[in-house]
Amino acid sequence: MTMVMIVTGGKTRRLVRSKTAEVNSLSFSTPVKPTQSRESQILIGDSCARMWTSVAATFVGETITMRIGQTTIHYFHARGGSAGMMAMISVVLSAMPAVAQRPTSLDPTEALQDLPQPKVLERPAGAIARESVDEQSMRVLDHQLVACGTRLSISSWTDPKRGIGCASDKVVARLNEIARDSGGKLQVIVDKFEATAERTAGESAPLQNIYAILPGSDPKLAKTLFIVSGHMDSRPTKVMDAVSDAPGADDDASGTAVSVECARLLSKLEAGGQVSFRATILFAVVSGEEQGLLGSTHLVEWTKQQGYTVGGMLDDDIVGADSAPGGPHRVRLFSGNGDIDDCDSPSRELARAIEAIDGQAAIRMVFRLDRYGRGGDHAPFYKAGLPAVRFTEPLEDYTHQHQTPRTENGVEYGDLEKYLDFRFMGDVVRDNAEALRQLALAPAPPANVKLGGAVTPDAKVSWLAENDPERAGFEILWRETTEARWKVLEFTPNAGEIVLKGVSTDNHFFAVRAVGKNGARSIATPTGIK
Ligand SMILES: [Zn+2]
Repeated sequence: MTMVMIVTGGKTRRLVRSKTAEVNSLSFSTPVKPTQSRESQILIGDSCARMWTSVAATFVGETITMRIGQTTIHYFHARGGSAGMMAMISVVLSAMPAVAQRPTSLDPTEALQDLPQPKVLERPAGAIARESVDEQSMRVLDHQLVACGTRLSISSWTDPKRGIGCASDKVVARLNEIARDSGGKLQVIVDKFEATAERTAGESAPLQNIYAILPGSDPKLAKTLFIVSGHMDSRPTKVMDAVSDAPGADDDASGTAVSVECARLLSKLEAGGQVSFRATILFAVVSGEEQGLLGSTHLVEWTKQQGYTVGGMLDDDIVGADSAPGGPHRVRLFSGNGDIDDCDSPSRELARAIEAIDGQAAIRMVFRLDRYGRGGDHAPFYKAGLPAVRFTEPLEDYTHQHQTPRTENGVEYGDLEKYLDFRFMGDVVRDNAEALRQLALAPAPPANVKLGGAVTPDAKVSWLAENDPERAGFEILWRETTEARWKVLEFTPNAGEIVLKGVSTDNHFFAVRAVGKNGARSIATPTGIK
């Protein structure tokens, strides 16, 4: 069914429908009354297949201006009512037959660029301003950590001047300072545990993680945890060498400073009454990363023991430098693929959600678990099937990583403070904090999301969701199988099933996400097969 519609003043009117592919003469079921200047669109296409070619049109009094392609402009007088309009549309169609027919002739199931977009809610107001990031306090904390000499996890936990214990003291002190300013909202916990690994020489090593917790206000969502994490431990060239200096200014005093600054920014919002987070946010500083991701592996278990569901885990590791010329550059955001056919991993959905929040100008998504042959604290979460991603600076300098400070053949090795770029780190903090803010304000993601309608003309998407008075509804998302990002296909207020008329199950991927009345989106849940 070929249709011609006009979209003006936020309303769509059907002008004509025809069973033939070409429309040569038109009549209007609803006369258009152009009384003032209005940006409008003429849509020509097939309503069943949801494919539309649009032509921009402007109504000024009784004159209609239409632009076809980039160059051709036609003026028409609509005086005389429908007769004038009929003439106009006939000319348009004959002037652009290739464009008008493109959807059906090229590929009957391909998504069109100009598909009318459903109305979407604005994202939550009150975004974290870049200026509110305290670069100076990050500089101080990073310096304090470097000044501990080494932070190898199997160095001293008791010497206040040198070793991992010194680092832990500095982080706890800073978080306690922030907690004091939070009006009792932020709670600081030191979680001591032991772990045995090849890189603890097969012996049980005492370790500890530090958590600052900002409890959620929603009775159900408070058990959902959004985590930002950096690792306080560092290493020299040899991973069992507890004696040599290991400044670790970038790896990962930078990520530690990011996690701690996020705690300050977000607890301050709560303390000031600007916001009440629905879900719980955990600002983690872990140890044992260089000895085999021991702290984050323990953190996965801790969240289970505490009865939390991990809504998302943001690992910040090596986020302190941006050495390539022409900066600031985008931070890289790594996410693993998962291993389910035709379905994205929760980690990939978290990455997309973060990019959608912070923007493509801020985030460079990399669809890979981590840099090639490398690992990080998000991996134990990812392997447990939880949404977890890694932030890392744009271009790493390997002479500055995992290197005992020294100069060799004129090359200076070592992870030193002088290579840090606090402007870049400040950007990373903002991106993390804003992502956490919006995610912790969002409703729960939909559950049991299924795609049905195989071997039929219409895709059917179904999902479940618990009652939530703060939820506005759900966005049905889709994308071409070759596309990286979701687009919104439909909005619907209630959970259940939606039939996508004329949309094949076969040529797109589908997902559903929940939208709060405040505009915050859950991460998307991709459809599983029914
Ligand atoms: Zn690291």
